Amino acid sequence: MSPFSLELGEDQLAVRDWLHGFAADVMRPAAAEWDEREETPWPIIQEAAKIGIYSLDFYAQQYFDPSGVGIPVAMEELFWGDAGLGLAIVGTTLAAVAVLANGTDEQIGTWAPQMFGTPDDVKVAAFCSSEPDAGSDVSALRTRAVYDEAKDEWVLNGTKTWATNGGIAAVHVVVATVDPALGARGQASFVVPPATPGLSQGQKFKKHGIRASHTAEVVLDNVRVPGHCLLGGKEKLDERLARARERAAGGGKTGSGAGKNAAMATFEASRPAVGAQAIGIARAAYEVALDYAKTRVQFGRPIIDNQGVAFTLADMRTRIDAARLLVWRASWMAANQQPFTAAEGSMSKLYAGETAKWVTAQAMQILGGNGFTREYPVERMHRDSAIYTIFEGTSEIQRLVIARTISGLPIR
Ligand SMILES: Cc1cc2nc3c(=O)[nH]c(=O)nc-3n(C[C@H](O)[C@H](O)[C@H](O)COP(=O)(O)OP(=O)(O)OC[C@H]3O[C@@H](n4cnc5c(N)ncnc54)[C@H](O)[C@@H]3O)c2cc1C
Repeated sequence: MSPFSLELGEDQLAVRDWLHGFAADVMRPAAAEWDEREETPWPIIQEAAKIGIYSLDFYAQQYFDPSGVGIPVAMEELFWGDAGLGLAIVGTTLAAVAVLANGTDEQIGTWAPQMFGTPDDVKVAAFCSSEPDAGSDVSALRTRAVYDEAKDEWVLNGTKTWATNGGIAAVHVVVATVDPALGARGQASFVVPPATPGLSQGQKFKKHGIRASHTAEVVLDNVRVPGHCLLGGKEKLDERLARARERAAGGGKTGSGAGKNAAMATFEASRPAVGAQAIGIARAAYEVALDYAKTRVQFGRPIIDNQGVAFTLADMRTRIDAARLLVWRASWMAANQQPFTAAEGSMSKLYAGETAKWVTAQAMQILGGNGFTREYPVERMHRDSAIYTIFEGTSEIQRLVIARTISGLPIR
């Protein structure tokens, strides 16, 4: 087991500084433009690919860092640069994590590289779980996967919504129900390979924040994928379904809260990383506010000379550091196979998401009228931060998970 440490090693510091350089020199100058354009920033993703930041190798290296902090450090620096561009760069990793969490070694080797493409021909990937009537309640999803034994193919039908990179992705990972009667336990994840007929993009959403990241509906109309596209394989699925049916026959729960399912396995693995993204936004806004408070003069003195402003900055910094500690702890636990006995992953995402929203709101207040305009970046940071209490499990759902875990009770 790797000991928990707050000190980054030489290699980790070098990666952090390298990412910081990219965030400062490439992302920051481009952030406002792509926020206004609300389009996928392909040139920025390409630049990230050319120097190795957008690549399977890079994320695999950080993911397998035994200290656990490789991914959070990387996320914090990129999202310090800009959250919309950051999500455009790392959105693919959500689908990659779904394959890592649920796929066989062969499936990982086949699909993960195709999700990123090459520096000369970059691709993105999408993870499609949410549906119009199944957001927080993942067990309610209706997209069906039916096995066509004669052809060894799965047939997918349904509509996914709010998919990051949905419709523009080369590879889509789709969570579907194989046996609706089993609720969450009857679900499985499927890879939809590039250019598969029947998959199309529905509505593209216009958003409040992270506007450089593409979010859209994905329509699946008789999408046929080969049997080997079922993540984890059919044998494993059949065993799992048989266990779930036995449990259901014995009066066990099958619906929401019935235990781990394909979508939840992905979310569990990615929550601390999402918390780290929120910390990057919060730190960026805090830094702007601190500089501003030291230089903005009112009543003949810098505004930071007022306790009302200085104490707010003290609280901002304290919350950011506390959030980072929670994220690093959860990331270290995950990397070292420590069970989340108090839902530490959810705790980290909850606190970091709420911190980002609160800190960016305080930053706007400290910048006064300037904070409200697009001349200064805190307005964008505030808009971007708002998603961090919503996606990857809302703050309420994180509290629900924590409450159930610490109490052992089926709190609703
Ligand atoms: C920009 C963006 C990108 C996204 N990217 C993806 C993606 O790549 N892939 C994907 O699959 N999904 C994605 N999502 C979907 C996202 O995960 C969902 O929006 C989120 O899970 C919440 O679901 P919902 O919007 O349906 O809200 P609902 O579940 O309808 O919740 C509405 C409100 O009710 C509260 N609530 C619901 N149930 C309870 C309860 N039991 N107790 C207390 N409060 C409750 C919620 O906390 C929330 O405040 C994305 C969403 C957005 C906006």
